[in-house]
This record gives sequence, C-alpha cells and structure tokens, in this order.
Amino acid sequence: MFTQGHCLCGKIGWKFEGEVTWACYCHCDDCRRNCAAPVVAWLGVPLKNFKWLGSAPSTYETTDGVHRHFCGNCGSPIGFEADHYAGGMHLYAASLDNPEDFNPTFHVNYESKLHWLEMHDKLTKYNGTLLESPKDLSDYN
Ligand SMILES: [Zn+2]
Ligand SMILES: [Zn+2]
Repeated sequence: MFTQGHCLCGKIGWKFEGEVTWACYCHCDDCRRNCAAPVVAWLGVPLKNFKWLGSAPSTYETTDGVHRHFCGNCGSPIGFEADHYAGGMHLYAASLDNPEDFNPTFHVNYESKLHWLEMHDKLTKYNGTLLESPKDLSDYN
C-alpha cells in the first residue's frame, strides 16, 4: 500500500509504502514558524520506505543536523529530517493527497501550545519532543 502527498503547486510529491511509524501534533515554536500555523500535524515513516516524486526539494538547515525540506517553487514545507531521528522522514499531514485519512494519536511539545488554540481531543499530551515520549520513536527499523 502506497500513501502519497504533494506541495501546493504540485511540483514536488512523495510517497511511502506501508504503515506510518507514528502520527502526532507538534506545538513547538520551530514547527509553528516553519508552517506559519498554530500547530503542525506530522507523520513519521521509515526512510527506506520513502521516495520523493517530481522536482527535488530545497532544504533549510535550521540548526546543525536538522533539515527542513520545502518546495522552491511554491514555498510549501514538504519534509523534515534530523540526525537525531536517523532513518526516518517526517512528513506534514496536511500535505497528504488525502489528509482526511490522517489519524494522530498524541501531542508533543504540549507545554508550548498557544493558549488561544483550543483542542478538545483525548489524545496523550507529552511535554518535550518525540525523543522524550515514552516509546522510543527514533527507531524506524
Ligand atoms: Zn510546490
Ligand atoms: Zn515541532
């Protein structure tokens, strides 16, 4: 089974085979600014199951070893890779061809949630990053 996504202009797409490793909301300031959105919905997949489609993405290295990919034509954020999440590709749920299919199961960096953003889901809310959540989500093998 393949899942696909694309940027606003459609020049860059991606696909992965199989299941997502995790699906969550991130409330950190970096993700918010990167997307100019109050919260960002993410899915993580093993890099070995992932492929870019169309044009190659542009990449902005936010800090050492953290790479945020985006479309150089339309500017849409399109992917995230980091040395501390080796073997994984993080994708924006809103870029899915069918974003309705997304099923987030937890929040991270919840301590940074904007007070005016109201979310009434019953999902687990972690403070800190994925690396600080109980399950070791950095292992994509
Ligand atoms: Zn684009
Ligand atoms: Zn974040």
